[in-house]
Amino acid sequence: MALVNPGFVDAVKQSEAFNASACMNCGVCSAVCPMGIELLPRKLFRYVLLGLEEKVLENTETIYSCLLCKMCEANCPARVHIAENVRFLRSYINKKVFKL
Ligand code: SF4
Ligand code: SF4
Repeated sequence: MALVNPGFVDAVKQSEAFNASACMNCGVCSAVCPMGIELLPRKLFRYVLLGLEEKVLENTETIYSCLLCKMCEANCPARVHIAENVRFLRSYINKKVFKL
């Protein structure tokens, strides 16, 4: 079972960049993604909102495979800032895992 990391929850709350709570889980983003990324944002961003840092870190490769092309974002009915969210997660992983 994945544990909630309060430090991760705080980092997400303090970030003005991360927004995913409006996601309706419609799947449009996955359908239009040229990389075929299914995880973003339906599951991955949900993990973030729940503070499940471990689950997010398990998916580091997926987070770095995103092209930041915003095809998903342009078609998102809930206006989730998907590319910005991915940037936020990369920055978090860079600091936390790669110590950059
Ligand atoms: S297109 Fe938008 S609302 Fe639909 S699953 Fe993706 S992020 Fe959520
Ligand atoms: S920004 Fe990333 S997740 Fe969105 S469509 Fe492009 S490659 Fe896929």
